[in-house]
Amino acid sequence: MLKLIRQGEGATRADLAERTGLARSTITQRLEQLQRLGLLKEVGGNASTGGRPPMRLAFNEDAGLVLAADLGATHSRLAVTNLGGEVLAEDRGEIEIAAGPEPVLDWVEDRFAKLLETCSRERSEVAGIGIGLPGPVEHSTGLPRNPPIMPGWDGFPVPERFAGRYGVPVLVDNDVNIMALGEHWTDWQEVEHLLFVKVGTGIGCGIVVDRAIHRGADGAAGDIGHVRLAIDEESEDVVCSCGNLNCLEALASGGAMARQLRAAGIDARDSRAVVELTRAGVPEAVQLVRHSGRLVGEVVAAAVNFFNPSVIVVGGDVAEAQEQLLAGIREVVYQRSLPLATRHLRIVRSPLADRAGVIGAAAMVIEHVLALEPDSAPFGAIAAG
Ligand SMILES: [Zn+2]
Repeated sequence: MLKLIRQGEGATRADLAERTGLARSTITQRLEQLQRLGLLKEVGGNASTGGRPPMRLAFNEDAGLVLAADLGATHSRLAVTNLGGEVLAEDRGEIEIAAGPEPVLDWVEDRFAKLLETCSRERSEVAGIGIGLPGPVEHSTGLPRNPPIMPGWDGFPVPERFAGRYGVPVLVDNDVNIMALGEHWTDWQEVEHLLFVKVGTGIGCGIVVDRAIHRGADGAAGDIGHVRLAIDEESEDVVCSCGNLNCLEALASGGAMARQLRAAGIDARDSRAVVELTRAGVPEAVQLVRHSGRLVGEVVAAAVNFFNPSVIVVGGDVAEAQEQLLAGIREVVYQRSLPLATRHLRIVRSPLADRAGVIGAAAMVIEHVLALEPDSAPFGAIAAG
């Protein structure tokens, strides 16, 4: 019933009876339960029926708060949102994930407290916490699993670290998955099958199947960065961070491009520098981003034939490099994929840009807590707050 109410601008009791087929008495009982939790608000009546307009009920997005963090290798983003995913306060900062879980999570907790202060809200109003990490995560337990760039994090109990202080659900996932969820939740809810391709320091892919994140048997689904590409005979093999040769990530990521520019005598520290050089129109950078787009396109074209998504959203900081990356991807995907698979395919740049992760982390928590039984703990927290 809450799902129906959240879908529209508000529903009357008659609407709900018609759409659920439930008896009026059952509807009244369930609405009372939702009202007790503060999850409903009354909105303007429907005057067209004449006489006293029937009361319409809408979802009260301010019934609780979500704390969201999208932790990257070096840059992180945090936010406080309401239960509608609206950002009430946000912050970003530079912290090395490689510093280990204790200092990083201390920092996150400190920033969360400051964000709540910024929007004058209480810790007791928090209904859940969502965290994205730049490595593989076992989503059911929230434990990082052998993350390559995160020393000290393997098996670290991230949820317990926060649950003790807040007493609310803490959900953890891989950063590409939360970005995919953020994009799908914000702009593509009607789309069943979507791929989110992240091109930043590394390359990864989030998969939405039947409107839900597909993680695979071990949470490793969508790891397109380590698909091996064929290279020209005259080119030298490139060793990837995973130890294999000529992975997509080793050839086409922001990190790989920065390295190639440096080899050509151009000062490019990281993927952000590559973006700046491209925006400034430096020919070597423009060509390189376009070329990388084509390489990403080769792998994505195979994924399109295999998976047949209707939307591909391209994000990550390299996607901010004008249209060059997208153009390269489009060029190859429309050329190589089967006509049937590309007939309705849209390839777009992420409208959320670097906010996709925090929005997705919040969405992950919102959908989780609103799907729980009303008597469970987080709702107790909402009702008390
Ligand atoms: Zn690799």
